[in-house]
Amino acid sequence: MHPTIQISVRPILDYYGKCPRCGYPAGAAETIRKSLDGLIERHVVATCELPCGWYGPVTRTTMTGGAAAADPAA
Ligand SMILES: [Zn+2]
Repeated sequence: MHPTIQISVRPILDYYGKCPRCGYPAGAAETIRKSLDGLIERHVVATCELPCGWYGPVTRTTMTGGAAAADPAA
């Protein structure tokens, strides 16, 4: 267990996935957690934009890059 010093959530504006339950386009946000020892964890969670209630972890899928490679800015 790593002590967490910073959590940031940012919407992925160019996310390009769909809800597996109803097929409607879903939105996604990336949660980035930084711990004291410098470990960075990223989780992408998608949420259906219709009120069907679905959400879940997804692989980051965008129009521009597909699955994100190692991010040199991190
Ligand atoms: Zn849905």
